[in-house]
Amino acid sequence: MRIAPLCSSSSANSSYIGMGGAGGGVLVDAGCGYKTLLDCLSLCRTDVSAIRAVLVTHEHTDHVKGLKQFTKHNDVPVYASRGTAGFLLTNGYIYNEKNLRDLSELPNAPVDFEIKAFKTPHDSAESVGFSLVAPNGYKIAYFTDLGEITDSVREGAAGADFVFIEANYDADMLRRNDAYPPYVVERISSRLGHLSNADSAEYVSRLAQSGTTRFMLAHLSRENNSPRLAYASVVGKLSDCGMRLNRDYTLDVAGVRTAGEYAAV
Ligand SMILES: [Zn+2]
Ligand SMILES: [Zn+2]
Repeated sequence: MRIAPLCSSSSANSSYIGMGGAGGGVLVDAGCGYKTLLDCLSLCRTDVSAIRAVLVTHEHTDHVKGLKQFTKHNDVPVYASRGTAGFLLTNGYIYNEKNLRDLSELPNAPVDFEIKAFKTPHDSAESVGFSLVAPNGYKIAYFTDLGEITDSVREGAAGADFVFIEANYDADMLRRNDAYPPYVVERISSRLGHLSNADSAEYVSRLAQSGTTRFMLAHLSRENNSPRLAYASVVGKLSDCGMRLNRDYTLDVAGVRTAGEYAAV
């Protein structure tokens, strides 16, 4: 399989995950404009026709901004939880409402791998993360926008080979950010907000010790984080646990906008 983070930040999120070649795949979230999405896909040498379905994690703008345009140009099923679907329908985010599918229909998704959803704790209608398992058993777990690691997330990520996980903010930067009113700081760091670098590092260390070998950090805030800080936070934590980068695990950070790189797994 291959996973290509097309855009990833607090303002736009979208990834392609597929089999490579003619196998086809899915778009997880459509948080950037359609032209940007096409540009990003082409940088990753993937044609839009490879996208056989869209998986929506939740209804926040940075995840669905481009959904209406995408569904206008691509007649593919869109999978969302009941809560998310309600919002998408009410606010006109799906061009053809007949394409909307409940998560219970994921076993029928038109792709050659198995997809499951799991609940994530976030201040949205009904957010989820996804696990994707290739025919050879290789498992990817994908989750951003969550305030804490819950049992449902642990279950969803159990046994994953590759984990795409949010590292949204550096706690010191967030605290010192005068541009953010206290209630916003409170919201971001709450149990229904986002994972900090330290939260992410803690969970990555647990996953690494239970067999996950590849990690990609995502959804970094441009105001309250930097790729260098997020990366160092995880490498430091894993080193405390006796795990060495590029020996025991690999680590990447998803860029704000892809430069064409993708992880082949
Ligand atoms: Zn988000
Ligand atoms: Zn969100």
